[in-house]
Amino acid sequence: MSEHVDVLVLGAGIAGLGAAEKAKRCGREAVLFEAQETAGGLLDNFIVNGFRFDNAVHLSFSEDKEVRDIFDRTPYLTHPTDSFNFDEDRWLKHPVQNNLYPLEAEDKVELIESFLARPDSMASDDYGNWLLHQYGEKITDRFPGRYTRKYWQTDARNLSTTWIGKRMRRAELSEILYGAVTDQTPNTYYAKEMRYPKEGGYKAFIEPLIEAATIRCGHRAVAIDLNGKSVRFGNGNEVTYTTLVNTLPLPLFVALCGVTRGPLHDAAAQLKATSIDLISVGFNRKVTDYLWFYMYDEDILASRAYSPSIKSPANAPDGCSSLQFEIYNPDRTSQHQPDDLIENVRYALAKMKLATEDDILFMHHKHLPWGNVIFFKEMEKHRQVIRDFMAAQKVETCGRFGEWDYLWSHQAFLSGLNVSL
Ligand SMILES: Cc1cc2nc3c(=O)[nH]c(=O)nc-3n(C[C@H](O)[C@H](O)[C@H](O)COP(=O)(O)OP(=O)(O)OC[C@H]3O[C@@H](n4cnc5c(N)ncnc54)[C@H](O)[C@@H]3O)c2cc1C
Repeated sequence: MSEHVDVLVLGAGIAGLGAAEKAKRCGREAVLFEAQETAGGLLDNFIVNGFRFDNAVHLSFSEDKEVRDIFDRTPYLTHPTDSFNFDEDRWLKHPVQNNLYPLEAEDKVELIESFLARPDSMASDDYGNWLLHQYGEKITDRFPGRYTRKYWQTDARNLSTTWIGKRMRRAELSEILYGAVTDQTPNTYYAKEMRYPKEGGYKAFIEPLIEAATIRCGHRAVAIDLNGKSVRFGNGNEVTYTTLVNTLPLPLFVALCGVTRGPLHDAAAQLKATSIDLISVGFNRKVTDYLWFYMYDEDILASRAYSPSIKSPANAPDGCSSLQFEIYNPDRTSQHQPDDLIENVRYALAKMKLATEDDILFMHHKHLPWGNVIFFKEMEKHRQVIRDFMAAQKVETCGRFGEWDYLWSHQAFLSGLNVSL
């Protein structure tokens, strides 16, 4: 089957939906083509035995008016941004360097002495040096250095600092000392509250966009002909377009264009992103009060977990609760078999003294092929080669993977809304 559309949007995640909204405002007609059977992309969710799970943590803290005008149409709950850290055998508040109180006195002295001896300036502009300069060697080694290897799947020295923004709390001597002598520390998180739909999972926030858009699900793009202005899909359909908007990962876009050698191919090969294994667990009772937490121990494969049933009680049957663990991989494939991941989460639950075998109703595995863009040094240079090519071809590109950036959902929406049509 062959058809023509005015604005062809590849991908029906929030960025594609933002682009569709932009098309409407410009008086143009957009059609979104989505590989999956449902829209939403990373913001979609799934149900296991009556428990609803998002695709990883997903909470909203946007103050942007364009975003709030849409998200706030859905009734929501608010949560304080109190997160926690698990380290060996104890829990520390977040950010960990400002909440050393639960540690042994010797450990605190060692960490603070090392903080006081930290370098005055950065020896080079990589993330490893940024951490040393901020926190000193011992805090870095014990907390963010270990976390980086789990979450980013590489050593901090291989990363740039361009992604940090508000994500990491800068170190202050007064805050570190205060948090070492009392647990009554203020919350310094970059957002004061997190919002989440009362019902329907995080995706409920974008249902108004989905309802307003024309979406063809079950359409996986398999080839893009930029000269002929057409896209071929896995189901055999071929669609021509006037304007193409991409939200697919840049390396995938380049491959779909049939580029197999040359600078464009080489640039695409340099762009790396993690994939994520999710282990979702249903419990027959409440197991924690923590909305989300970070895990540093190397024998626990997951770097982060959150509770869907705390995000909204509607995510679990009455009297039950849930957690979802995120385990990161350096590329598209899992580093572990699903059964091994499940076994490790079982081990983690016991080590953290959260739950025993008797509490667990089920454990479920899901793989997300695209997680976070990895900010290797010089990533931006390679990304620019692809962006320049797309601009020359008059292809609009937006979203977390279409811009190839560390975008939150509201930023991905605004990225779609900002395409030129
Ligand atoms: C672990 C994790 C936690 C996060 N937590 C938060 C949070 O708490 N708060 C927050 O605001 N943001 C969070 N985010 C960010 C948020 O998920 C993203 O910014 C946003 O969902 C990206 O939307 P997108 O449309 O750009 O990409 P996607 O949602 O990935 O959409 C791309 C779409 O393209 C489709 N597609 C792929 N290949 C093809 C193909 N060949 N043909 C057709 N379609 C295809 C995909 O199926 C998908 O639907 C988190 C992200 C991750 C990974």
